[in-house]
Amino acid sequence: MKIRDGKVEIVTGDITTFAVDAIVNAANSSLLGGGGVDGAIHRAAGPLLYEACRKLKGCATGDAKITPGFQLPAKYVIHTVGPIWKDGNRGEDEKLASCYRRCFEIMVAEGLKTIAFPAISTGAYGFPMERATRIALEETHKFLETNPPIEKIIFVCYNDRAYKCYIEAAADILIK
Ligand code: ADP
Repeated sequence: MKIRDGKVEIVTGDITTFAVDAIVNAANSSLLGGGGVDGAIHRAAGPLLYEACRKLKGCATGDAKITPGFQLPAKYVIHTVGPIWKDGNRGEDEKLASCYRRCFEIMVAEGLKTIAFPAISTGAYGFPMERATRIALEETHKFLETNPPIEKIIFVCYNDRAYKCYIEAAADILIK
């Protein structure tokens, strides 16, 4: 589904196959690999990605760091560390929002035009999908209000439930 004159797209698929300027990795704070989307990205990018991540010396929760995409179709990977969900009262929302803001900041700083996000924190880190998608789209809405020099923001859903959550959140937040 395309929204905001095609600037935002919600699709299902595997983020490792997207030929965009940057795909976002939902990493852990060591940046040294994990399961889920991180494992898939490292497998598809090849061993040089691990070497590049090792040099970054980790990443704080809510922050993001960029590497090349190596063997991926994407030019870059922006690694961000989402919060681990506890009960919703430990600053989880703000930390997740910060992940999206930092990825957008890096995107603009590096002159990147197209970016694809997975649903950060909603896998092993247990963030409720509905709440996470609303935060993702609220930060996207705020970012787009600043008229950034970008072309496309893609939300890649790994399953139909995630897709449904994004579409419902988009109806409230992006389609006004
Ligand atoms: P986190 O530790 O931040 O929760 P996960 O990788 O466990 O990260 O999950 C984040 C989200 O990414 C989940 O919604 C999961 O279904 C999704 N995901 C897993 N693999 C892929 C993939 N190849 N492409 C897109 N999304 C994926």
